[in-house]
Amino acid sequence: MDRYRVEPGTTVDLSQWETSSSATFDGDKRAGKKALLALNDELEALQELLYAEGKHKILIVLQATDTGGKDGTIRHVFDGVNPQGVRVASFKKPTEIELDHDYLWRVHARTPGSGEIVIFNRSHYEDVLVVRVHDLVPPARWEKRYEHINNFEQLLADEGTTIIKFFLHISKDEQKERLEERLADPKKHWKFSKGDLGERERWDDYQAAFEAALSRTSTEHAPWYIIPADRKWYRNLVISKVVIDTLKGLNMAYPAAEDGLEDVIVV
Ligand code: AMP
Ligand code: MG
Repeated sequence: MDRYRVEPGTTVDLSQWETSSSATFDGDKRAGKKALLALNDELEALQELLYAEGKHKILIVLQATDTGGKDGTIRHVFDGVNPQGVRVASFKKPTEIELDHDYLWRVHARTPGSGEIVIFNRSHYEDVLVVRVHDLVPPARWEKRYEHINNFEQLLADEGTTIIKFFLHISKDEQKERLEERLADPKKHWKFSKGDLGERERWDDYQAAFEAALSRTSTEHAPWYIIPADRKWYRNLVISKVVIDTLKGLNMAYPAAEDGLEDVIVV
């Protein structure tokens, strides 16, 4: 999965990154969906071990353009994990109280504790994405945030958090199709906002803002992965594999049993 990882220090040009390939999987959509079920079981077992060991904290950041598939990723990649020990934190437009504080205030409060996996559905990266695209704060202010973010993530990593960040990369044509699907299906209308069309008009500005974030904040302790996300089944497979590989790399173990358990009799 290394091919999707942004090497620290490289400059990302998103037009050079694939959106629709399924290059690392030898099979079609049907086979891909089946393969995900096996990965779901594997992830479930690793998550139980993580929770039992109670040592590592896992932070997974999901960012994407509108319709990029954050919700679907959460639903399918984490299907089957024990909700006790896994939490989703969604970051919406900041409230008045949140706006009265620095932009990391609300974020830090929702980071994972020991043994926990937290999935950020949007994140502190909005503060260099939507904020930058819409001039919500002056450039001199958001410009400094890349460094704050690297330092913040370094602090989390130093204190025992493993961070993985995914950018779900879709093409502009794919976004059009997904928006049209939402319009055509009454059950998807709740997901459609006319504002999304205004955001779509700023597609190039968003791509540029993502490129800056991906280039400047992919680090050894908190790498970005750029996931081809036009095919949902392939997106799920790749993300699942990266999460599983990362958890395996922690060399976790169940805590040692109390001494003398072999002599215990339950009466
Ligand atoms: P959704 O994910 O569709 O529920 O939309 C959440 C909305 O909140 C999106 O339009 C985001 O751009 C917006 N949002 C999230 N974080 C921020 C932020 N820090 N500043 C401004 N808008 C934000
Ligand atoms: Mg939305």
